[in-house]
Amino acid sequence: MRTALADFVRNTPEGREAHAILRSCVHCGFCLPTCPTYQLLGDELDSPRGRIYLMKQLLEGEPVSSGTQLHLDRCLTCRACESACPSGVQYGRLLDIGRAVAEERVSRGPAVRLKRYLLRKILPHTRRVRAVLAVARLVRPLLPRELAAPATRAPEGRASPWPATRHARRVLLLRGCVQPALRPEIDAAAAQVLDRIGISVILPQGSGCCGALTHHLSAAQETLEHVRRNVDALWPHIEAGAEAVVVSASACASMLTEYGRLLQADPAYADRAARVTALARDIAQVLAGEREALRGAFEGAAATRPLTAAASATRVAFHAPCTLQHALKVSGTVEALLTAAGFVLTPVGDRQQCCGSAGTYSILQPELSERLLRAKVTALESGAPQVIATANIGCLTHIRGGTSLPVCHWVELLAERLSVANA
Ligand code: SF4
Ligand code: SF4
Repeated sequence: MRTALADFVRNTPEGREAHAILRSCVHCGFCLPTCPTYQLLGDELDSPRGRIYLMKQLLEGEPVSSGTQLHLDRCLTCRACESACPSGVQYGRLLDIGRAVAEERVSRGPAVRLKRYLLRKILPHTRRVRAVLAVARLVRPLLPRELAAPATRAPEGRASPWPATRHARRVLLLRGCVQPALRPEIDAAAAQVLDRIGISVILPQGSGCCGALTHHLSAAQETLEHVRRNVDALWPHIEAGAEAVVVSASACASMLTEYGRLLQADPAYADRAARVTALARDIAQVLAGEREALRGAFEGAAATRPLTAAASATRVAFHAPCTLQHALKVSGTVEALLTAAGFVLTPVGDRQQCCGSAGTYSILQPELSERLLRAKVTALESGAPQVIATANIGCLTHIRGGTSLPVCHWVELLAERLSVANA
């Protein structure tokens, strides 16, 4: 696409990157059928191609309206369009750049500004999330569904005890912000499974939110504060030989892969941030490399106490989060691990489709989010599963609000299988 960027951005690193991305789009439209907002709204400006065109105009210095911002806000950042694009257009990066410029040029109304401010100031802080949840449970009947869901139902997962640090092989576990408040059982389950295959987990003191929440709200400085704090917290353990930085939320794992790029111009952090990115792994990526050890653990557990036929054939519908399949490009891995553990996967239509959670999207775009949730739950329930599993706390919480089935992280199923068989 021919592009002539405006003076304000042309010679900046972001401008050069955006220029290259814009030029790579050939306007073929192959991405349109995969875009959830285009499917729902049928408006080209709510499609990847339409948004790319809007961002081109924005970066070429044409006047920006709140309409442009609305079309960019409606994007889920699901990146299904990237997976579908034959030209390798890095839509997600272009959106980051375009949204940041729109944020500077279009002023939002006071109510929206307040909402976005509160999201930035509360969600990345575990203690604040716990405090809000405590209040939410008290006033639950007064809350809209998307806010009430996390506070309404007790966790379905079975709490795993946290294992002692006893193995020579060690990984770091970044716990993040919202997940420890909503579902601490997930990280305990991940640690338990890793322990069973000879890997101990270290929780780095001082680490916290990965920065994804503020990043997607175009709050660059706050994001870099989160990123630098995590690099500082992780680094002594990396120097001491930790072999990976593991996350059990795929959105956070995806964000860790951005650390090197985000701090590449900061001489005090560039090398260390690049190393963190090189070591970043979703728990699925770690366990995919340990299939033999896992098989041994399951066989050992089953020999100790065989499962009943009913328990071994638990029917699971797996929802692959967008960050797992489109950002990290991990496809089919979790399904293979669950199958190897004896679970029966039920068919799920439109598996590449976003559930509508998308970070803060369910709060900022509740109507579109709700429509996507309904479609996703219908697809997940169509194969009559007994449980729904996913790989990201945002998706998990969102889907729980739309189904009466239990919803868990898939690693909890593995941990339960190991502990049930050994109980
Ligand atoms: S983003 Fe890719 S698939 Fe979409 S119009 Fe551009 S080149 Fe085609
Ligand atoms: S990221 Fe998702 S919602 Fe946004 S344009 Fe691409 S496919 Fe559509």
